[in-house]
Amino acid sequence: MWHALSSSFIWSLAMGKFNGEQKPLLKSGRALRWILLVALAGLGLAQPGMCAASEEPQAESKEEWTPPRFDERQKERNAMVRKIKSYALEDEAVLKAMSRVPRHEFVPEANSRRAYKDTPLPIGHGQTISQPYMVAEMTRQRKLKPESKVLEIGTGSGYQAAVLTEFTRHVYSVEIIKPLAEAAQKRLKRLGYDPINVRHGDGYYGWKEHAPFDAIIVTCAAGQMPPPLIKQLKPGGRMVIPVGAPFAVQSLMLVKKDKEGEVRSRSLMAVRFVPLVRKDKSSE
Ligand code: SAH
Repeated sequence: MWHALSSSFIWSLAMGKFNGEQKPLLKSGRALRWILLVALAGLGLAQPGMCAASEEPQAESKEEWTPPRFDERQKERNAMVRKIKSYALEDEAVLKAMSRVPRHEFVPEANSRRAYKDTPLPIGHGQTISQPYMVAEMTRQRKLKPESKVLEIGTGSGYQAAVLTEFTRHVYSVEIIKPLAEAAQKRLKRLGYDPINVRHGDGYYGWKEHAPFDAIIVTCAAGQMPPPLIKQLKPGGRMVIPVGAPFAVQSLMLVKKDKEGEVRSRSLMAVRFVPLVRKDKSSE
């Protein structure tokens, strides 16, 4: 802890960022910064990757990322995609993403046979993996680019998060049920979806440390739009969120924050999602 604090403190000082001051103290540029880096590394206080990330965050976002590929059950995935397409969802990039992620790896063994049916399926703890059409529609609404940073609320099985990585490696996902969060993290690692960051916690509060986000997707229904999520949306960003009473018909809302920070929302369709809860019952 102190290690991390002290190194970021020293780096902040060197970069002139301490106390909000943005002007570099070291004016002779990259060479001098690297000398300092090497010195810090020698002291065991810094790793080049760590400092490079704080110096040039945009460099990280340009890194190449190739999601894992799976052949098994491809025919069934193609049939699922044809079904989604038949609902007039014709976004080629989204359909391609849906044809690549192995949904059968995200459902419990008992439901594996039904993995490519266009239907939600139980994943334990009273929760479900969303219907593939809904995953496709929510992904389409976000208009993602490789540098987009996305927050998902409701990791569940991790399936939607995996679909998101077909567009961007910058995926953050919060799950309130601890065993689900842990299982999803393990599963995503095992399958090779390494960049996804999963956290156990109440997604109502978003993920402040990584905000702001270009896109937020909420996969559980909220009574009202959580103000922290609106706050963590970047100007120009989009959020999709089901809003309405638990276990009733809800509205899938598209929320847009314009460049000036003004927020507008409209209803896309009627949906039925599991509720956004405020307390992790599994840890009681
Ligand atoms: N996106 C998931 C679907 C998950 S269903 C998938 O692809 O499999 C919705 C999930 O939201 C459930 O796992 C539920 O536990 C979770 N959830 C409910 N309230 C939450 C909250 N306040 N914060 C984070 N996750 C929440």
